[in-house]
Amino acid sequence: MLKRWSFGKGVLANFWHCRPWVIQFPRQQVHCSTGCYGVSWGEVMLKKDQCEAATPYVLDKKRVKTEEPLTNPNRARKYEMSKTRSCRARALAVLRSHDFYFFYILIALLAICTLFYYFGELVDFAGWEALRLNFFYSVHDVHRLFFLAPIIYAGYIYRVKGAVFVTIAAFIVFLPRALFVSHFPDPVLRAGLFTIVAGMMGSLTGMVRNESERRSHLEAVIRSDRDRMFRMLENMEEGVLIIGPDYRIRYMNQSIVREFGEGIGSHCYEFLHNFDSPCDQICKLPKVTDGATERFEYNFPNGRTYEIVASPFVDSDGVACQLATFRDITQRKQVELELIELNKLKSELLSNVSHELRSPLTSIKGIASSFLQKDIEWDDQTREMLLTGISEETDRLASLVTNLLNMSRLEAGVWKPEKERRNISDIISETLEQQKWAHRKHTFEIDLQPGLPEIYADYNQIRQVLINLLENAVAYSEEGTRIVVKTRAVDGEVEVSVSDQGVGIPLEELGKIFDKFYRGSQTRQRPGGTGLGLAICQAIILAHGGRIWAESEVGCGSTFYFRLPVADPSN
Ligand code: ADP
Repeated sequence: MLKRWSFGKGVLANFWHCRPWVIQFPRQQVHCSTGCYGVSWGEVMLKKDQCEAATPYVLDKKRVKTEEPLTNPNRARKYEMSKTRSCRARALAVLRSHDFYFFYILIALLAICTLFYYFGELVDFAGWEALRLNFFYSVHDVHRLFFLAPIIYAGYIYRVKGAVFVTIAAFIVFLPRALFVSHFPDPVLRAGLFTIVAGMMGSLTGMVRNESERRSHLEAVIRSDRDRMFRMLENMEEGVLIIGPDYRIRYMNQSIVREFGEGIGSHCYEFLHNFDSPCDQICKLPKVTDGATERFEYNFPNGRTYEIVASPFVDSDGVACQLATFRDITQRKQVELELIELNKLKSELLSNVSHELRSPLTSIKGIASSFLQKDIEWDDQTREMLLTGISEETDRLASLVTNLLNMSRLEAGVWKPEKERRNISDIISETLEQQKWAHRKHTFEIDLQPGLPEIYADYNQIRQVLINLLENAVAYSEEGTRIVVKTRAVDGEVEVSVSDQGVGIPLEELGKIFDKFYRGSQTRQRPGGTGLGLAICQAIILAHGGRIWAESEVGCGSTFYFRLPVADPSN
């Protein structure tokens, strides 16, 4: 095996196996050590054993044109032939070349045909009576037919030029018989006609071979391009799929196989979409095979969303197919959806908060304006009623602002529970006293288990939980109904429950009511609410190591439970 490096003009290169510099100038002598096998302008060839060690060190790398191993022995011999100076060596190289064997065969064929063509004359000349057969003296057209073999052979091996040469040679062979030698002259016209037809056949053979070689070369180029492309596609992070016009999957890269499994050969609509027939509405294949490029997003039955770019692709068999790249955008989509949801919640909150702030402010403003009217005399009872109104509305405002503030403090992690040993019954009694006074139209009952163990909790935070639950119980039940607060010790925990006889909560909403800003479908009996109350309760109870939940029946009422761990007696 020989290896050849080709250089541009004036390149300075060093093959360190060859030791001295190989200095290359255009159209000037090249200097090289004995290690170089053949050197010419811009080219250095090394023998196989030198190839491994010979690392070309080229000063101007951009000007190195090719690095081509000469694996074909025939090409290597030709190369050797063209580079050798000695005529004898060159002639020997030519005679030993692979192509020359074909030439020998051609000469042999021509010789045999010529011998056969003139065999009659030879028999006459030599007087071989035994061989004087009628056949050799009969129709010459038949004798000439044998020349088709070397002409077509030359056309096959040396293409059109070879066929023309051999045809001319054959015509020259025909001429002596036609003009001088034979007693039975072969008419020149018929010989000429045969020559033309045979020459055309030989040339056609050459052309057909040229064409078939060109085609197979093109096919090989396309195949190697395809292989190279597939090697690139194979390692792509995006999934790549090639689908034929018959909806069959022709190619899948590793990434898409990982996502969907192996499906080459199956119908894309079955494999990807679990359909029995092509997906009429969404299928882009007909458009894409017509030359359009389509970009779209699609949710697959595996639950993932992909951004797909489908573009036309001509496969190595010349069939117009669709090459689709799949980018997994499931996560991006989820984040987008969450952002949309969050934005919706934010705007809902803003509108709720402004509404909630506005209504008590309007009442307070109304009452204050009434007091400012100097022409009206207020009796004591009305004055007290109006002042109570201001006080209640201010409480509402305060509770709303407290909720908002508490939520943001909890979220920011700055409202940490300051835990100490506490008796839950005390917290409940104190909170209930205040609530009883604020919501006099409801009946509050208390059922505390005696001797409850102490809990380890933040007084203000647990009080906030109770206020939120009691205010909800009031807000979602009619005036005159009962609200019961119970406590009991259970499994090393203290359980508190707040029950009302209100509207209740539909089953499908029970799992969501503790979410931030979630507001159920049930209407409040009293205005207010931001969807934060229960979220705050949950955050506080979780921070205490407890849990909170609700049970409810629509139309009958709801019970909210929370449990807190009992304080360690040794602590
Ligand atoms: P809101 O400010 O809307 O009351 P909460 O976080 O306190 O927000 O409650 C969330 C949702 O839970 C409410 O919108 C309501 O649908 C439901 N809910 C809470 N408490 C009760 C209750 N005692 N009775 C019926 N539904 C309730």
